[in-house]
Amino acid sequence: MRLIVTEKNNSAEKIAKFLSGGSASSDKTFKVPYYTWTDADGEQQRTIGLKGHVLGPAFPEGYSNWQKTDLHDLIDAELIKEPTDKNVVKAIKKVAEEADELVIATDFDREGELIGLEALEEMLDANPALGSREGTRDGSLRIKRARYSALTKEEIERAFNELDELSYPLANAGAARQDIDLLWGATLTRAVSLATRRFGSNFLSVGRVQSPTLGLIVEREMERRAHKPKPFWELFARFQHPEGSFETHHETDKFWEKAEADSALAGTASPGTVKSVTARKNTRRPPTPYNTTAFTSDASSRLGITPASAMRIAEDLYMDGFISYPRTDNTVYPVSLPLHELVSSLVRIKEFSAASGLLDSELSPTRGKKETTDHPPIYPTQAIHPGALEGPKKRVYELVVRRFLATFSPPMITESTRADIEAGSQTFFVRGSVVVDPGYAGIYTYARSADEEIPKLEEGQSLELAGEPWILDKETQPPSRISQAKLIEMMEERGLGTKATRAEIIKKLFDRGYVYGNPPVPSETGIAMYEAFRKYVPAMATPEMTATLEAEMDQIAAGEMTKDGVVGDSRELLHSTWSEIDESREDLAKVVWKGMDEDRILGPCKVCEEAGRTKEDGSPNMLRIIRAKKSGKRFVGCGGWKVDDPESCDQTFPLPQRGDVFKLEERCSVCDQTPRLKVQPFRGRPWNLCLNDDCESMQEMKKRRAEREAAKAAKEAMAKKPLPDGSEDAVPSKADTATRKRKRAKAATKG
Ligand SMILES: [Zn+2]
Ligand SMILES: [Zn+2]
Repeated sequence: MRLIVTEKNNSAEKIAKFLSGGSASSDKTFKVPYYTWTDADGEQQRTIGLKGHVLGPAFPEGYSNWQKTDLHDLIDAELIKEPTDKNVVKAIKKVAEEADELVIATDFDREGELIGLEALEEMLDANPALGSREGTRDGSLRIKRARYSALTKEEIERAFNELDELSYPLANAGAARQDIDLLWGATLTRAVSLATRRFGSNFLSVGRVQSPTLGLIVEREMERRAHKPKPFWELFARFQHPEGSFETHHETDKFWEKAEADSALAGTASPGTVKSVTARKNTRRPPTPYNTTAFTSDASSRLGITPASAMRIAEDLYMDGFISYPRTDNTVYPVSLPLHELVSSLVRIKEFSAASGLLDSELSPTRGKKETTDHPPIYPTQAIHPGALEGPKKRVYELVVRRFLATFSPPMITESTRADIEAGSQTFFVRGSVVVDPGYAGIYTYARSADEEIPKLEEGQSLELAGEPWILDKETQPPSRISQAKLIEMMEERGLGTKATRAEIIKKLFDRGYVYGNPPVPSETGIAMYEAFRKYVPAMATPEMTATLEAEMDQIAAGEMTKDGVVGDSRELLHSTWSEIDESREDLAKVVWKGMDEDRILGPCKVCEEAGRTKEDGSPNMLRIIRAKKSGKRFVGCGGWKVDDPESCDQTFPLPQRGDVFKLEERCSVCDQTPRLKVQPFRGRPWNLCLNDDCESMQEMKKRRAEREAAKAAKEAMAKKPLPDGSEDAVPSKADTATRKRKRAKAATKG
């Protein structure tokens, strides 16, 4: 039997369907589905899907106590491999016993190679004969590798006609990354948590790539805070015109002195004369094929979908066979792609018919800078009606299709016009821009710029002023915050993370409360963590070190370095990093504590604001998280409260007592009444909490929660038949509660 192992059940099912022509039957072992059929030669074939990684690196027993383990020992610990899903491991061992040939058909990248190798080692353990060449028809290996970039019939058939071998260097590069991330993450997270005495669920997470990424956000925030607004003035004038009056700007962009703006205003007199009209055509070239970075960045800026969600959706679409593999650096379509066929089937769909003109001439796609041979750029593998998809999946599929069609489309031509008008001693100008030919923006509609039309003007034309000219007071703005889309690009430029991990790393910064909002704003804790690193452990704050490691992993993949060598270097670096932290732990802790303390301040109190109450220095009274001294319970209270002043603010709000809470918004963007928080439970998904009970955002949640609870109660009621006498026993009886109380009192006296 030939056994085909894929990364997920979904791909196992699809590959079985394609290769068997639909005749495969399914069965299960250890709850893991597999698919079997007999091919044209009478040979049995079977596919089985993993659940991603089946093994992961872990510390051996004895290193789990944070306080007792010496971190230098932890750094040198010999890592072991632990099954991440025992059923899957049992299942593949079981099916491997019956196999005499094996095809690894996991995803085609470093991670996929490693997942394949992990599964292979388990299967060889169950059936060592798979590792020998003996008895095979041509003396070749019994273990093969299928590499494919899309889950379509043609691509799968091609891959199985061109079977390859597993690449150990590629798998080892993936394994080195796993080991290094575990060692760095565990050591530094423990180091910082020990230094700041934060344990249990309150630990402070630190990561090799995570910390320099946080640094990019914090550095920008610091620039914003250091920014001193500088005042400037702008002068405008409105002129009458038969087509309607229009606004113009003084030829001086910004007046840095008020007096100069005033005198320019005084020198403006009616009527004005059009001095010159110039028009220029601009050509904007169509975009290049999508790699992962450009795709996630586009999904974020054009669709408002976060990079992490965009990747998840793209993976779903890949699994459905609708788009090609979404983790790719390549920006040049390989010659093997059936481009003409794809374009003609896509433009037959009504939504994409705007691009049907493409078929009138030969297709010539744009090319990006990077060309690799592993995967093609992201492209739609199948023409489907977007109406068949739902919600964000539909929007992401459309984005991929529109971008794909755009890469074959003509440029967008716009015409911009500038007219200069002399009025008294001063000159004003007006600028307009219209799309002459939308070109690629006809299909890639996101790129289409809105027309800014100006009235028809001719040289020498005389125009009366419409009312008085006016001056606007303005001030220089700080640099803007980094959007998630831009952050992904900056990470790529600096070699931080990989196409597979970047979106996930940003999500972690949110989950740990180091950043909040969109675009991400660093919390005070986030800023403090970064500042502490920059001061005491500079290697962790800058991208260089982690970029060096990435380069070394590339060398493993290329067979130029060994996994042990790279992991060993990394352990050396960790020893010195930990020593640095250890020496300055007291100072480091102070910086971090101060930041965490500031994060308890949530935002200005609206009640005080409306009553005109402020602090003595005139700054607003702030709502903050307070821990009650007696009960130890936390709640939100106004900083304007005074014990001896009955007139002072007594605003309080309850908080959930379990899990971490982070500031999400100083003032809720839904109700504009109170701060909004993010609650990260110990287990499960984070949720948003508006302190204002009447907020619409909370009604929706309350409704959903009530529905969930009702459904749960109904299910429980179904599972539990009523007692014969009709009494309901779902809630603990008073007797139960009394017993518990008695037990607790007894335990307390013992202790
Ligand atoms: Zn107040
Ligand atoms: Zn609200």
